[in-house]
Amino acid sequence: MKNILIIGSGGREHVLTWKLHQSNRVDKIYVIPGNAGTAQLAENVEIDVMDFEKIAEFIKSKNIEMTFVGPEKPLANGIVDYLNDKSIEVFGPNKKAAKLEGSKVYAKKVMKECNIPTAKFETFKNPKNAYDYLELANYPLVVKAEGLAYGKGVIIAKNQLEAKDAVKKIMEDKYFGKAGEKIVIEEYLKGEETSIMVFSDGNTNYQMISAQDHKKIGENDTGLNTGGMGAYAPTPLIDETLKTKVDQEILKPLFNYLKDNSIAFKGILFLGLMIDNNVPKVLEFNVRFGDPEAQVVLPLLENDLLTVAEKINQEKLDEINLKWKNKKSMAVIMASGGYPVEYEKKKTISGLDNFSDSSNPFVIQAGTKYEDNKILTNGGRVLAVVATGDTYQDVYDNCYHNIKKINFENAYYRKDIGRRIKGVKLLENE
Ligand code: AMP
Repeated sequence: MKNILIIGSGGREHVLTWKLHQSNRVDKIYVIPGNAGTAQLAENVEIDVMDFEKIAEFIKSKNIEMTFVGPEKPLANGIVDYLNDKSIEVFGPNKKAAKLEGSKVYAKKVMKECNIPTAKFETFKNPKNAYDYLELANYPLVVKAEGLAYGKGVIIAKNQLEAKDAVKKIMEDKYFGKAGEKIVIEEYLKGEETSIMVFSDGNTNYQMISAQDHKKIGENDTGLNTGGMGAYAPTPLIDETLKTKVDQEILKPLFNYLKDNSIAFKGILFLGLMIDNNVPKVLEFNVRFGDPEAQVVLPLLENDLLTVAEKINQEKLDEINLKWKNKKSMAVIMASGGYPVEYEKKKTISGLDNFSDSSNPFVIQAGTKYEDNKILTNGGRVLAVVATGDTYQDVYDNCYHNIKKINFENAYYRKDIGRRIKGVKLLENE
């Protein structure tokens, strides 16, 4: 039995806690800093996720034998290297490997060098050259801040005016701070988006079940981009042929490149893909579980997650046989009204007592906080209702039937999660 630590406070970290809590190899779970959901299964500890020194001290003081890092920022800033130097075991990629997410310019250069299918692109360090380029470019196109911008540094521009405005916002007005010192301008790709997360020890790569997120705030995929308004798994789009293509055209060349450049990758590689006519192209790499993809993929994983993480760290992932439930899953996010722009916090959430860890559906919390014996909203994406079942229609109906039991002032959720799955009858069509 081991004590473990999870770093982060979102839905991804709650579902990691939920999954690891089921392990008969896990003793006590700590979460830094956690949310009201993780507090029910683990002990939340108020430490800044970027305060590596305090985190290391805490790990030593509690005999923690494995640490899972949820969010990208500590990974990109080298938390894994820092803790490993202190002989602390942690699951996640080191700083060099995390650059695949931390720098979009670097990720695109690697893809180009490895011939990995991706959108055609140019990179810019100064706005003048970017404006000149936009004079002759084809539209629509996509302008991306180079660094971490919590999924918000990507602007799809329909015409030259919008593109110039995006460059100004990112490079001159420094909307995303240092993350916008460089930009990538790339071709707009058509198709259907899918996420595939991969367990990797640097040698062996296992694709997890695919998932589809719904990034836009509005129904029918309209309005502003968000952190993700809901997801389901698996995606019917990803069949064995596509999985082989992903292995051959993306994972094999990428991992050969990493090895040739002495970059040890251990952890989760997240592929954001655009699929058009059965051709997968990479939109982005992330180096950790996706949120909300983790909420739909982890409930289908049969294996013990602690054991998988340990085998990855020992570079023995090939000794594991990954097993997946032959089921479907769906997560519908309830958000604070006004998200992703302005919203209020501290609204009392009612109805959570209709659910438990083992109910179906169950609730994964994100922006929540426990205060004065109440669970209050504490962020844009507040919680997710997660169901598993035999058919997509079952999980859809189960999520939407039960989400009505939860209430807080100005709660908002999309009613069309799973809209692209053929044959699923959506609420709005009733
Ligand atoms: P990224 O963080 O690079 O994955 O971009 C965030 C979102 O912007 C993606 O999930 C897509 O919805 C959209 N996006 C990014 N790049 C492109 C592209 N080249 N073509 C079309 N949509 C894109």
